[in-house]
Amino acid sequence: MNSSPVFYEEPYLKSLEATVVAVTEEGVVLDKTVCYPEGGGQSGDRGSVGGCPLLDTVKGKDGVILHKVEKPSFAVGDTVLVELDWDHRYHYMQMHTAQHVASGIMHSLFSIGTVSVHQGESLLTIETDQDEIPSLTCYAIEDKVNQSVREGHPLRYEVQSQKDVLKLPLRRSVKVESEEVRLVIIQDVDIAACGGLHLANTSEVVLFQYEGQEKLRGHVRLIFSVGKEAKKRIRENKAMVEQLCTLHSAQRDTLLEVETRFMDQVAQTRYLLGKKSERVASLMLSSLVGKADLVKEVPLVLWEVEEDIDMKQVATAFIQVEDLALCAAKVEKGKLLWMVGLAGKASTLVDFNASRKQLLDPISGKGGGKGSLFQGVGTGVPKTFFSSFTKVLYGND
Ligand SMILES: [Zn+2]
Repeated sequence: MNSSPVFYEEPYLKSLEATVVAVTEEGVVLDKTVCYPEGGGQSGDRGSVGGCPLLDTVKGKDGVILHKVEKPSFAVGDTVLVELDWDHRYHYMQMHTAQHVASGIMHSLFSIGTVSVHQGESLLTIETDQDEIPSLTCYAIEDKVNQSVREGHPLRYEVQSQKDVLKLPLRRSVKVESEEVRLVIIQDVDIAACGGLHLANTSEVVLFQYEGQEKLRGHVRLIFSVGKEAKKRIRENKAMVEQLCTLHSAQRDTLLEVETRFMDQVAQTRYLLGKKSERVASLMLSSLVGKADLVKEVPLVLWEVEEDIDMKQVATAFIQVEDLALCAAKVEKGKLLWMVGLAGKASTLVDFNASRKQLLDPISGKGGGKGSLFQGVGTGVPKTFFSSFTKVLYGND
């Protein structure tokens, strides 16, 4: 079993004919392959084998390259055409090469070390050894990488012994234990030991863009976009700004100012609307109290709360009333929101905690409270809750 790798000698080969050596649960083994297996922060290749979808390529036991083929329709001994999803592979080669350039430049010009790297579906991330990197430095790194891209530095490979490699100015120590080490040399930019796939020249990176940073294990992790993805993001951002300008009838230069003013107005309107709704809730409760039946001189209000009043406003209205047995409920986003308020003399009519099961079981309710106000969520309709509340109230009468 082997799947002999052809991609190191010919990283730009998009397809080849191979013979099927094994078809196992773990994957398909071929006599030779163009498909790179996942490793070193680089994703495994996709494409097709013998016309069947190739979902991933991984390294199995003993380093054998396994092709994860969906429903293989071929058998051992067959000759199959292996075709790469070239867009996918090429983007990874671009991200990987850009990472070498960036790590080399960060090391030599900014004294920033690379701890780990990851090439995602769309973005490249580099975990650094720093706990803080100012934006200005990140943009300076971006500029320097793009300069190397414009200058077009060729890449070449050298295989050297571990002993000889120790004498070279590598930016990071060699992680493999093999006798021989494969070095990736980007002329005047970077030398590193690496078993991944790269471009032939830095010019093929096309574009390198700083997208932001996040914290990982106390380190700054820098986020970059590369090549077509970088272009796509620039265009998406431009389209977003244009849409915002249209929405706010603003020019690009004044967009931020207009947006800030708009958000202030939204906050002010929300505040005033909240105050108005509080008054409406208070007036509605007063009206309900005025019409309410009395239970031992205490008004009983069963309130199916309107859509435009929220339970917080019901609570605010409730605490202003002296004697009241309130049972309020509404359905919101498929949930039943419930509230029980026992103000003044009402607290002698119902002991919420003692009647909790009887009140909440019919609506599978959860929640609680303290003092005179209890609330939570459940399922079903307000009527069910009102019915269990009145049962408790009159049952205790
Ligand atoms: Zn590499």
